[in-house]
Amino acid sequence: MIGVLGGGQLARMLALAGYPLGERFAAVDPSPECGVRDLAHLIVAPYDDPVALDWMAEHCDVVTYEFERVPAASARRIAERTPVHPRPAVLDVAQDRGGEKELFSRLGLATPAFVAVSTRAELEAAVASVSIPALVKTRREGYDGKGQFMVRARADLDGCWDELGGKDLVVEARVDFDRELSVLAVRSTTGETVVYPVVENVHRQGILRVSRAPAPALAHELQSAAESHARSIMAELDYVGVLAIELFQLGDQLLGNEMAPRVHNSGHWTIEGTVTSQFANHLRAITGRPLGSTRALGHSALVNLIGVLPDLDEVLRVEGAHLHLYDKEPRAGRKLGHVTLVGDDPEDLEERLGRVLALVD
Ligand code: AMP
Repeated sequence: MIGVLGGGQLARMLALAGYPLGERFAAVDPSPECGVRDLAHLIVAPYDDPVALDWMAEHCDVVTYEFERVPAASARRIAERTPVHPRPAVLDVAQDRGGEKELFSRLGLATPAFVAVSTRAELEAAVASVSIPALVKTRREGYDGKGQFMVRARADLDGCWDELGGKDLVVEARVDFDRELSVLAVRSTTGETVVYPVVENVHRQGILRVSRAPAPALAHELQSAAESHARSIMAELDYVGVLAIELFQLGDQLLGNEMAPRVHNSGHWTIEGTVTSQFANHLRAITGRPLGSTRALGHSALVNLIGVLPDLDEVLRVEGAHLHLYDKEPRAGRKLGHVTLVGDDPEDLEERLGRVLALVD
């Protein structure tokens, strides 16, 4: 049995990918309504509940996690008895925006200029050194653009400190990027590594809205550079599973923004758009089985359904629309599902994508 810490849509899609392989699943999640509830043995408990964690250690052959804010101590407790992939030490890096960026720079992936700060005086000095506009982010806890403040002028510092002060922060130069990209790579317990085509991502209010894959008109050199960065980061961390790295493209340069030690929203297109989905490959990786091909089957586009669902029959009328719903109650800013389109002709794909976007906007 495969254990997952977290029972949301990522656990749900892992389970859906695992059943054809004969796998069974258990999940820990504090919510009895979580998306994996009908697809796994669900233990409703906080993520640091020792009884739940010990149950997972006892009954699962391997344990993974679907979000990086899972307490590292919980992963460590399980890892004393049962393999946990990616290994718990990865969480220490991935939970800290400062640590991630230090790792990236050390391994040759440039990042936006950044300074770690904890006090108001350090914040002022950092904003002066990084230059305005600057983005101030909490080192820990932030996701989907939460825990961030844009400082456009020194006068914004009071508001910034009111909102984020008291926490460890990073101050980052705001990068005027051409576009946002992500690269997903997979490394198995045997060290075998494969990398997916780089994806272009469009965010709205900090939440992923649309992905196009492979990223249109991406220079071959950038695909190769993204691959080699992903490989060296995974080798350095002795990583097992799917790793997502979010990147900014500026001309012919890539900057590392952050990484997610898990299957990733910008990889959902791989279910229909590649030979082997990120979910199937994550399961293969953590169970030590051969990895599958990451080759793209033409061009793909992914649209997230956020906050409210559109008219689903109209979505299904768009030719080739693959609808995925996560069985979650609608709520502002919540990811409720996604739609993937795949095709050979990029123009036809854009036309169908436009029809889906017209329904969700
Ligand atoms: P994050 O939580 O770091 O992924 O940030 C959420 C979004 O904010 C990113 O996807 C970008 O669109 C934007 N963003 C984050 N950091 C920067 C930066 N240094 N410069 C410009 N935009 C940024």
